[in-house]
Amino acid sequence: MKVLFASSEIFPYAKSGGLADVADALPHILQEYVEISRVMPLYGFMDKDGFDYEKSYKISLGGIDYKINLYTKQSGSMRTYFIEAPLLSATKNLYCDKDGDYANNDLRFGIFCMALVELASMLNIAILHLNDWHTALCALFIHERKMKIKTVFTIHNLAYQGIFGKNSLERLGIDKKYFTMDGLEFYEKVNFLKAAIAYSDRITTVSPSYAKEILTKEFGCGLEGFLAHHKKKLTGVLNGINDTVFDPAKDAILPFTYDEKTLDNKYKNKADFIKRSKLKDPRRPLFVMIARLVEQKGIDLLIDSIKMLLEKKINLFLLGEGSAEFSKKLARFSNEHDNFEFFEGYDEELSHRIYAAADFLLMPSKFEPCGLNQMIAMRYGTIPIVHAVGGLKDSVHEDKKACGEGIVFKKQNKKEFLSAVERALKLKKEAKKFKATIEFNMGCDFSFRPSALEYLRLYKSLA
Ligand code: ADP
Repeated sequence: MKVLFASSEIFPYAKSGGLADVADALPHILQEYVEISRVMPLYGFMDKDGFDYEKSYKISLGGIDYKINLYTKQSGSMRTYFIEAPLLSATKNLYCDKDGDYANNDLRFGIFCMALVELASMLNIAILHLNDWHTALCALFIHERKMKIKTVFTIHNLAYQGIFGKNSLERLGIDKKYFTMDGLEFYEKVNFLKAAIAYSDRITTVSPSYAKEILTKEFGCGLEGFLAHHKKKLTGVLNGINDTVFDPAKDAILPFTYDEKTLDNKYKNKADFIKRSKLKDPRRPLFVMIARLVEQKGIDLLIDSIKMLLEKKINLFLLGEGSAEFSKKLARFSNEHDNFEFFEGYDEELSHRIYAAADFLLMPSKFEPCGLNQMIAMRYGTIPIVHAVGGLKDSVHEDKKACGEGIVFKKQNKKEFLSAVERALKLKKEAKKFKATIEFNMGCDFSFRPSALEYLRLYKSLA
């Protein structure tokens, strides 16, 4: 059974969020059980010197021919294919620039999908594992061409659906017969994600709780009814993390590596981090947040609560980029308080040093399909404080002795958030319990191993 795993981003080649981490970690574990390779776009900002040119081929979309150059990279036993194509590869970023989403994203990812369906056919692929809207049209193309390839489609975040004007149909050469409520029509627009929900053989999402939530009006982003209609195909499989990349015992980025038996070194990382930051007093509990600055992540709740939060004897460090409005407010608070530092940007290395230095990680997300930060944090002995939603609810527990342990608040409001922080401070004071929680979490398995077996079962059910 040959599997091709398709994603618009794969760490370390291109990453904007958790999808890249998943596209890195999951196939590596699956490789122990099935023959699997991966495919992603070759973006303009990527250096292709390290890749091998494989071949060129032509695809046709909306009556126009596009030349595809296929590159590969063999890294250990993992083969990754890179698709270089007009428009798709011409951009400096993945999906957007400071002015917003690229206007031709429909065509860019339409070309990607057609090129990768062609690749799947050339490679004799049995299962094509698609991820998020960028790959969603593959399911339609396979259905339209009556190909034998089976498709599994994973929804990493339902909030991003790939919605475009009706004229996309012509640009992409999609027959109008698919522009219906049962197909990819969505309030007179074209919705890529709907195509995958309608035409994939199986649909998964990244946690069991999110699989239930997306069937409700509150979390369904307008697709709850459509998903309910295809409910039989839908399951939730909890994400894991790459425990080799995120391993405090071997992490070369850290000034001091450590495990649960050498926690003293964690506190050396903390002291080093505080020294390099504008924060003072390394004895204060260090709360951190690493997130895209978007509403989903509860940045507005943080901003709302920040004054009261900073009145407590804590330090707070936030790493993130995104909405200009949020950045401006956070920068202002950072200037006004000596116990809060906001670092604007995307910085992989800094994120590792933060996970290692922190006592608590804040995740007050409005919704969270799975979330990886909380698992990375626990692996680094940092206790997560999370809103009980989606994957956060499935991976962090306050009351029961289950991997992992953290602080969980039920309602996403200021009162409950601040009360959760209070519980964290109380826990920090109970030194023995605090240490035991850290040690317990560091011994948990947050890898993709258990979930990979569920994906394997799914593939086998289709083969
Ligand atoms: P999402 O995909 O919704 O952004 P996830 O929790 O699934 O959220 O994954 C986020 C990933 O991106 C984690 O690996 C996290 O450490 C990383 N990350 C998020 N923001 C930044 C940033 N500003 N700098 C470095 N890493 C970041």
